[in-house]
Amino acid sequence: MLKRGSSGGIYIHPWDITDEGIDDCYDFLDQSCGLNELFVAAAYHASTFVLPHNPKRLVRWDDGGIYFTPKHARWGDTSIQPALGSGVDSDSYLTQIVDKARDRDWGVLFFVVFHYSVPLPTRYPHTCCIDALGEPHRTYLCPSNPDVRSYDLALVEELLDTYSGDGIRHESLGFGGWNQIALCNKVEVLPTPRDQFLLSLCFCEHCVSRAHEEDVDALSLRGSIRDHLYRSLPQNPTEWDDSAPDEQWARNVFGGQLWRYLDVRCHTVSSLFGEVQNLCNSHDAAFMPFGTRNDRDVMACNDYSLMYPHLKRVSLGATGNDPVAQRTSLQAAIEEVPHHAEPEIMHNQRSFDSSPKLTEAVMLARDVGIRHHSFHYYGMSRRHELEWIGDSRDAWAKG
Ligand SMILES: [Zn+2]
Repeated sequence: MLKRGSSGGIYIHPWDITDEGIDDCYDFLDQSCGLNELFVAAAYHASTFVLPHNPKRLVRWDDGGIYFTPKHARWGDTSIQPALGSGVDSDSYLTQIVDKARDRDWGVLFFVVFHYSVPLPTRYPHTCCIDALGEPHRTYLCPSNPDVRSYDLALVEELLDTYSGDGIRHESLGFGGWNQIALCNKVEVLPTPRDQFLLSLCFCEHCVSRAHEEDVDALSLRGSIRDHLYRSLPQNPTEWDDSAPDEQWARNVFGGQLWRYLDVRCHTVSSLFGEVQNLCNSHDAAFMPFGTRNDRDVMACNDYSLMYPHLKRVSLGATGNDPVAQRTSLQAAIEEVPHHAEPEIMHNQRSFDSSPKLTEAVMLARDVGIRHHSFHYYGMSRRHELEWIGDSRDAWAKG
């Protein structure tokens, strides 16, 4: 169950733990950092990492995947079988990571990357998003696809059921942006923000079918967008309109067809978030998606009101360039946190150049009432930056 009252946590990749040895890693997190909660990246995207204190490799190229062997019966519901991450060497790989943390009475949450994947679109090309020009997105699965939705729910249920996670913090559970996650970008001048928005729209058979069920003609819209892009993209970029894709534009362009399609997409994503929320509720776990929003935002493609009543922790961030402004912004953010949730903040220890400066930021957050603190990825941090975390441990001490 999610820790209440106070906690000090860190984001951590499974290999951060096992390359070092679980006991040695946890001894350091306990004794030098004073932490008592892990955000384990159980499903992650492809990346290149520099790992300054990893005893096995300083640089890691990783294709991403899941960092446990799939066991749950729910995997029988989907044709998509997950890509196993590099380094998972036994059926008990994640079990050992979780059990040894529980032995220390630590909280264990899972960070899960859902639809951004390098291996799965190659293995299951029918599950990719497809743009208005018919081009499949090479690194993004479509949330309209029932196989993808089953895959998402199997991931969540495995982590909550088999590994008793206290919560799920997600990334890329909805639709993705265009060219946002490219393998290698050779686009010298990016299309306008509005054209990128249009290119981000999926018109796979499942998106088209969902629209049809709500009396929206997606094929007609796709044709209009395609015609527009063939007019727009060949023009000299100096002639492009760089306006943002705001709601007024979206409501009116293409004779209102775009807005109706966005509304369908919003329903598609919101219902998936709702299903994940229900799974978390049934396991008494936290679904930790966003801040304090409680509205339905068609442009952002989500109905936050479905999750709002179930918020347990709300992640806040300070804005402003000086401590006074940061304090004011955090105080205002805390006032928006509903009574049934607790405020949390994540600090990136690598963005500070000394221990006192990190401590100052952490204690500022404590002063305004935040008792849940987390820190950015363990393996990507230098040893001395991790030791600075320990200098701030009073911030999540009780009292
Ligand atoms: Zn689609």
